[in-house]
Amino acid sequence: MGLIVQKYGGTSVGTVERIQAVADKVIGFRKAGHDIVVVVSAMSGETNRLLGLANQMQQTPDARELDVLVSTGEQVTIALLCMALKERGQDARSYTGGQVRILTDDAHTKARIKSIDDANMRADLNLGRVVVVAGFQGVDEAGNITTLGRGGSDTTGVALAAALKADECQIYTDVDGVYTTDPRVADKARRLDRITFEEMLEMASLGSKILQIRSVEFAGKYQVPLRVLSSFEDGPGTLITIDEDLSDMEQPVVSGIAFNRDEAKLSIRGVPDSPGVASKVLAPIGEANIEVDVIVQNMAADSTNDITFTVHRNDLAKAQAVLEQVAKELNAREVIGDATVVKVSVVGVGMRSHAGVASTMFNALAAENINIQLITTSEIKISVVIEEKYLELAVRSLHSAFGLDTE
Ligand code: ADP
Ligand code: ASP
Ligand code: MG
Repeated sequence: MGLIVQKYGGTSVGTVERIQAVADKVIGFRKAGHDIVVVVSAMSGETNRLLGLANQMQQTPDARELDVLVSTGEQVTIALLCMALKERGQDARSYTGGQVRILTDDAHTKARIKSIDDANMRADLNLGRVVVVAGFQGVDEAGNITTLGRGGSDTTGVALAAALKADECQIYTDVDGVYTTDPRVADKARRLDRITFEEMLEMASLGSKILQIRSVEFAGKYQVPLRVLSSFEDGPGTLITIDEDLSDMEQPVVSGIAFNRDEAKLSIRGVPDSPGVASKVLAPIGEANIEVDVIVQNMAADSTNDITFTVHRNDLAKAQAVLEQVAKELNAREVIGDATVVKVSVVGVGMRSHAGVASTMFNALAAENINIQLITTSEIKISVVIEEKYLELAVRSLHSAFGLDTE
């Protein structure tokens, strides 16, 4: 007996039948004696459909109105799920983010949760109701509807679990756990029984879209026991844990391979080799609100510098325009933009105590004739930027080189 927050993603509520299956599942947990708060996403494809409509209205849709629009997807599923629960004799109540009072800042389309009022939910749970909350949305101080960024229902789930001090937060999706890499890319990917928060955070921030980054941050910060499971089949799923079980000799050095297809690369060639030049190049990019990822600077033979960095692919045109301007001011040779790169990363807390991970990685890529364009490392990850067309090959060969393949 306990309190469980369950989040069901888009595919898990993608049809009337799937919503009915979720209702059956929730009732199963009620019958086992648990209090249940459910967070749902919009039906699969719905958020994209709504964004498509917005793009037909305005070249850059107004952020406030965009939030009013896209938050409707989740409002549909909360009502439908409550109807399915009631049809089965289970009392239930739906809430939009604003109705719970999930208070956020006012950063439309990427708002951050500031506080959650648990009074309504507690009152319903005490009356034996299932509480069904719309994921992905909240409300700012002024009462405007806000949304939390793509994949944000994960964060709603974890944040509610933290606010309610739930015994577990269960993220139900279309795969039966967190895998060593995206199973859609490598069919030899293996489900992990456990993964540390630290590794999951790296995997998420390096591009694994199984969990929104903020949900993992939240779970780590508030120590919410988090589990990823399939809504389609029963199984233990993957537990995201705080412990690094160092006694486990079987623990591989690399736990997973992440990749990000959203990268684009920009180079400015022939800038003067003098103090402050990197700042002169990168500060205007930051001022234009563009996030920079990997940065590499190298000196050319004529003692000028080349500076190369990556940005989100959606920001390439804007970043390139800013950089062209900088190039003029610095009298640089040229600016080159490239939207055909991806980033592939190996992640594992085991790297801290093992040498040779980088050489295994580079050898595996060399064996496939994959050229590495940029490299960046941290304590528990190594990332490389490579040509887009090699993504699948790189992921599979690294998966195999680090002994992660299923038999
Ligand atoms: P939901 O709609 O339930 O939120 P998502 O599509 O956001 O589901 O996330 C589930 C998908 O994440 C899977 O279908 C899978 O293709 C992808 N994925 C990426 N990396 C991984 C990984 N390491 N393990 C499992 N799934 C992954
Ligand atoms: N419906 C939103 C999206 O598609 C939020 C979510 O599903 O987590 O991004
Ligand atoms: Mg998701």
